[in-house]
Amino acid sequence: MNEDKLHEECGIFGIYAPGVDVALNTYWGLYALQHRGQESAGICVANGYAMDIRRGMGLVNEVFRDSLPEMPGHIAIGHVRYSTTGSSLAANIQPLLVSYAGGRIAMAHNGNLTNAPLLRKKLEQGGSVFQTTVDSEVIVNLIARSKKKNVEDRIAESMNQVEGAYCLVIMTEDRLIGVRDPNGFRPLCLGRMPDGGWVFASESCALDAVGAMMIRDVEPGEMLIVDGKELRSRRLVAEKRPPALCVFEYIYFARPDSVIDGQSVHLARLAMGRQLAIESGLKADIVISVPDSGTTAAHGFSSQSGIPFAEGLIKNRYIGRTFIQPEQKKRDAGVRIKLNAVAPAVAGKSVIMVDDSIVRGTTSGRIVRMLRDAGAKKIHMCVSSPPIVYPCYYGIDTTARKELIASSKTIEQIRRYIGADSLYYLSLEGLHKAVTQVALGGLCSACFHGEYPTEVACAKELEGSKFVFEETACAMGQKPKGRKRP
Ligand code: SF4
Repeated sequence: MNEDKLHEECGIFGIYAPGVDVALNTYWGLYALQHRGQESAGICVANGYAMDIRRGMGLVNEVFRDSLPEMPGHIAIGHVRYSTTGSSLAANIQPLLVSYAGGRIAMAHNGNLTNAPLLRKKLEQGGSVFQTTVDSEVIVNLIARSKKKNVEDRIAESMNQVEGAYCLVIMTEDRLIGVRDPNGFRPLCLGRMPDGGWVFASESCALDAVGAMMIRDVEPGEMLIVDGKELRSRRLVAEKRPPALCVFEYIYFARPDSVIDGQSVHLARLAMGRQLAIESGLKADIVISVPDSGTTAAHGFSSQSGIPFAEGLIKNRYIGRTFIQPEQKKRDAGVRIKLNAVAPAVAGKSVIMVDDSIVRGTTSGRIVRMLRDAGAKKIHMCVSSPPIVYPCYYGIDTTARKELIASSKTIEQIRRYIGADSLYYLSLEGLHKAVTQVALGGLCSACFHGEYPTEVACAKELEGSKFVFEETACAMGQKPKGRKRP
């Protein structure tokens, strides 16, 4: 919808299910993951000896309007994309499909490699030719150039060279492989089809969409191989690293009906809203939300404070999440037509408006003005996450640090900028208190405090996210450490 949000990167899906229409199931899975990327979509199907791929720019139902019946097979992977690295080009649409000495390999990637510019430069110096500007192509090149005999060893060797965030679904002609990076930055879960097939998906809502039962999350640093009816697990790196699932999956990215690493997204958002009510201690006539991502937290705020929830803003449900489109002009148009105030609900009232985050502050200011024009007496803005101060290097388009309003303004200055009567953010401690069910225990919250879970080899090149490989490559030895928490 707007530039006041962080943008998720991608959604991935993979299925191994003989006797099932895997292309159609992948289509449904991608449809459930559409919120994770709206620029492009792709499906690749294998039938044991050959592969077929369909990809295009646009939403899932636009790309696959007519082509699914022509994709027979028993293995498939799919991808929906929002570009953070690499530009918005047709050549960058995933899955990527390459031929190498050992056969063919298709791959879909969610995340961001923090040493991709460095690896790409080395590969190019060694003779590799790149067809795209996405960091995912670095991974397929590493796999293709590996001297190891079988594909699993090639993948394991490659994963030991890349750094950063990656969840992958990889397909050969006869097997499906799911991989999660050693810190587990991005989510990936495993499900079982009713007839015994296996499914990987970025979120459990996609398992529900195809009737699969959630089995478990893929563990950080784990590779799962589906080969025939077998499922095998293999560790990618010897040492265990602290888990660092992106906390923004719970704040904003993931669908509320998903369960990630044991924590329900819906329950986490309710708890954030309740905690925000406790911390702010605000009194008002009504609680409203910025739909849809602020709605669950607003209900939590309302239930904790006893202040009634009202529908003070209405979202046009038929224009899609236009903010995910990368061009600024489209974003501005989307903000103007997407939301409207419900004047009879807010007129003459003191209003608590709950939203999940503020990035630049421009859209929050527009919404506050909209509510005042509709007659709201007082507007208290409550944000169910802490101020975003630092950029993300792990696949989230946070924009450059200087564009993050909280990196240069105090909370009081932000309040004045957006024109609210008061402004409250959830504390970092309060956020962690709200997300207590995460089975693996560790979360990344570096964009709030600057303490990154890993070293970021190419921090300068990655800041602002949309770097293009041809224009930049980080120098060897330029390795700023993860910043320490102030
Ligand atoms: S830095 Fe922020 S957006 Fe990036 S992975 Fe960590 S918590 Fe998520």
